[in-house]
Order: sequence, then structure tokens, then C-alpha cells
Amino acid sequence: MNRNRRCSSLSGDQGLSRRQLLSWGAAAAATVLSRPVLAQNRLRRVVVWSEGTAPADVYPKDINGAIADGLKSLSGWEVVVANLNDPDQGFSGSRLEQADVLIWWGHKKHGDVKDALVDRIERRVKEQGMGFIAVHSSHFAKPYKRLMGTACTWGAYKVDGSAVQLIVKDPAHPIAQGIRNFTLPKTERYAEPFATPTPEAVVFDGLYLKPDGTSEPGRQGLCWTVGKGRVFYFTPGHETYPDLFRDDVRRIFRNAVEWAAPRAS
Ligand code: ZN
Repeated sequence: MNRNRRCSSLSGDQGLSRRQLLSWGAAAAATVLSRPVLAQNRLRRVVVWSEGTAPADVYPKDINGAIADGLKSLSGWEVVVANLNDPDQGFSGSRLEQADVLIWWGHKKHGDVKDALVDRIERRVKEQGMGFIAVHSSHFAKPYKRLMGTACTWGAYKVDGSAVQLIVKDPAHPIAQGIRNFTLPKTERYAEPFATPTPEAVVFDGLYLKPDGTSEPGRQGLCWTVGKGRVFYFTPGHETYPDLFRDDVRRIFRNAVEWAAPRAS
């Protein structure tokens, strides 16, 4: 108790010499000196949200559970799952305000998401620098469309047995670190054009390999800065394919979370 009292008075006195500070004992000094360090080293938080419509035989813990499991090895991060059916659609209390990055997967229930929540997400990204990562069919999610300000349509949507090659287009980009070109054996083919603003980076290009032997380009990983926040869109993530359990895909998500996190000002 005495140490705490001493520390609080110590921290408010700018006139103390370093010798005086140290003379009060290592424990007391450590308490004082650790304050800014703790502030810098607090756990950052990523919230992984989904709407609960993925087939349980492919994603037993839904999409957000699979993505969250892939983020567990991130050092210095707390990983939180949030669901459309949770109270306040997954954002009760200060969960949104405490999120450094929000990952979003939706498909059938975009229209259920309340506009007031979309307003809050927009403010968190644009004004406060929260990162936002949209996955696959979330190109039509309300928050993503709000942040892009465009229709966010793809040219076509086909589940026809196409594979897709993910091609590292920007190898120097942080999201590409540790990633080499790889192929997803089956995917839903989202054909160009993609009605979004011009991205600041195309981290992953893509080439769909269609069952008829022809191929078609389609970008797979795109970045923007929106206000103070960073936004990443990842094209794969169709709910009937287990791509979100793959090591390479999980590495991309870990990289994207680190990239999208607010920068120290
Ligand atoms: Zn899909």
C-alpha cells in the first residue's frame, strides 16, 4: 500500500531526480516506469464475426470459429468471436470500441445487420483507425459496402468446380510475408470486374481454372485505407469448402490482422 501511495505521488512530481527515484527502491521505481510500457504492450484485440449460416459438417464452429482458431498463434493478440445471434448482434458493451481489428463473414443475412451497428463500425474505422477485414461473400456486407462507398458487385458468381491459383502479386506487402503461390482446388468463382474503388494494393492476384479447361483472372486479396483505418478484402472463403483451415490461408489472416491494426501515432 505504501509503495502504491508513494508511486502515485512520485508520478506526479516532475522535479524528482533519477537518483531520488532509484533511491526509493527497485519495486517502486519499476511500478512507475512500467506504466508507459504497459500501455504500449497491452493485448490488442481482434473480433471475428459471422452470421451462423455455414454448414456444420464443413465448419462445426462456424466461419468465425475457424478463422479465430487460425489466429490463436498471434503473439500479443486476444481473439474474440462474435455472432449475429448474440446480444446486440455481437457487439454488446464496449466490444466494438475495444476492437483493433474486425473480421467479417456474412452471406445470407446481410439485411439483418442493423444500420446503427454499421454506423458505429464506419466511425470506428474512419475516425478511430480500427482495421476491417471482409471475407468472400462479405463483399455485400453492409459495413464493407459502407466503407467502400460503391456497389461492391462481382461480374459473376459460379460454383462450378473451378480451382483458383492465388498468385502473390505484391511480395513486399506485409500480408504476403511467408506466402508463396498456391492453389485452392475448388472455389466459388467471383469474376471481374469488382465494383470497388481502386485498391492501394493488390496483394494476391488470381487465376480461375475452369472445368472446361479455360481460365479467367480474378483478384484475391485487396487493400484500401479508408479514413484512418485499413481495409483488406479476401476473395476465398466459400462456406462449402474448408479453405479457412489451410495453413497458408491462416497465415494470410494473421498477416492481415497485423497489417490492419491501428498504427501508433
Ligand atoms: Zn460463396
